[in-house]
Formats: sequence, structure tokens, C-alpha cells
Amino acid sequence: MRIDIATLFPEMCETVLNESILGRARRAGYIAFACHNIREYTTDRHGRVDDYGYGGGKGMVMQPEPIQRCFTDVCAKLGKRPHVIYMSPQGNVLTQQRCMELAKMDNLFLLCGHYEGVDERILEEIVDEEISIGDYVLTGGELPALVLADAVARMCDGVLAASECYEEESHMGGLLEYPQYTRPEEWRGRRVPEVLLSGHHQKIADWRQAQRLARTKQKRPDLFARYPLTKADRKLLIKYELGPQQDGEK
Ligand code: SAM
Repeated sequence: MRIDIATLFPEMCETVLNESILGRARRAGYIAFACHNIREYTTDRHGRVDDYGYGGGKGMVMQPEPIQRCFTDVCAKLGKRPHVIYMSPQGNVLTQQRCMELAKMDNLFLLCGHYEGVDERILEEIVDEEISIGDYVLTGGELPALVLADAVARMCDGVLAASECYEEESHMGGLLEYPQYTRPEEWRGRRVPEVLLSGHHQKIADWRQAQRLARTKQKRPDLFARYPLTKADRKLLIKYELGPQQDGEK
């Protein structure tokens, strides 16, 4: 997969994309990122890419033409049109499910707004979908684009050591993940649950599933209410005494 990011602050994005797991995956060729400075596509001799909004108001608005020129250039370099996402507080809120779908695409083009945002006409012209990272407003689309790039990239082949690394995680399959422990076996009087030291694979798997169910029910009742509880799940909850079933619960 390749992710192109159109931004006024490419260095801000590069810094993050060159670090840690994404940086390693990028250098190893499992994923490609390219950050484009929209300012390089303006024809204004002072390098301006924004102007006052029609109708008044305080903020500046990013002009459509530099963004269009940047997009056209990326399309020419790729030899095809990527799926275009505008990072926007007005978009659908990003979910793990949407990240999984996006991870199957070959090319994504992420447009980062700044100031009051971008001229509406560029959205009509090139954007396929708008994605938000939550119901709050940030100063720019760079952090949201990096959040999306990270969440999507880690599900691309080779980026993590194995697909199991993300398949059992929170939000995969509708539940939160079970608790994790590492050495030492006892820390400040708190012991690692005995079952994890037993070496008994089935018992460990059952305990983990019971924990997933219990902590989703406790921490995210909204997710739990949507989760299709099986007979086996119900038995596990009872076996591990992780909360009696309430009236009306599935
Ligand atoms: N005037 C816009 C509005 O009220 O909808 C907000 C503009 S915001 C200050 C500047 C840019 O930050 C946006 O163009 C967008 O790219 C990005 N942004 C801000 N909050 C975001 C969020 N929650 N999710 C994704 N992008 C966001």
C-alpha cells in the first residue's frame, strides 16, 4: 500500500512516519508514504495558499487550485487515481472496521486542511470521503492523517510481525482485548493470574475470552450491547463469575 499525504506541514508528518514500527516498515518496503507540500503547488509569487473567506468571518480558507495541482501531480506519478480522503471534523468518525477496509486499498490520498479548512469546491471535485478522528476540532488535518495512516498501515502485510498481533486486539471482532501481563510474576504484591502461568492453552484461551467479555461489558457497555453473545460466551461469563446476566440481556 502507498499513502500520499497532502499538507502544509510535510515535515511534521515525516517525523512521525519515520519513527518506530511505521518507520521500520517504510524502510523495509512494506508500506510507502509520501508527504507533499501543498505550498509547492501554488502559482502565487508570495507562496500563498489561503485567502479570506467569502461572506466574512475571521479565519482563512485554503484555496482549491494548489490542492488540485498537487492531486493531479500525485495521480500522474502513480499512474492512477488514489482513493481520496479529506480529514475533517465533519466526516464519519474513524473505526477499526473502516481501517480494515482501507488497508485493502492500494493507494490512499489524505488531504489535510488548516485554518478554517478548504474551499468547498475542492471537496466536490476530488474527495471520495471525509473522515473525522473524533467529535472535537484540531488546528489541522496532520494529526488525524497520521492517526489514520498508523491505524491502517499496521494492518498491511509485513508491517507487524504477524497478523495475530492485531487480530486479537481491542475493536477487532467487537470486543476489547483481555488484560496483558509481563515479568515479574509478582509486582508489589500483585500476582499474574495463575491461569496464565499454567501453560494450558485451552484454559488460557477461555480465560482471555471471558476477560474480553467482562471488560467490554464494564468499560464499553455500548459495544457489549451490540456484540452477538454466543452460548459458549455466556457459559464462560458464569464459569469465571464475571457478572451475572441481567434481565433482558442477550
Ligand atoms: N472550520 C472547520 C469546521 O468547523 O468544520 C474546522 C477546521 S479545523 C480548525 C482545520 C482542519 O483540521 C480541518 O480542515 C481538518 O483537516 C482538520 N481537523 C480538525 N479537526 C479534525 C477532526 N476531528 N478529524 C479530522 N480532521 C480534523
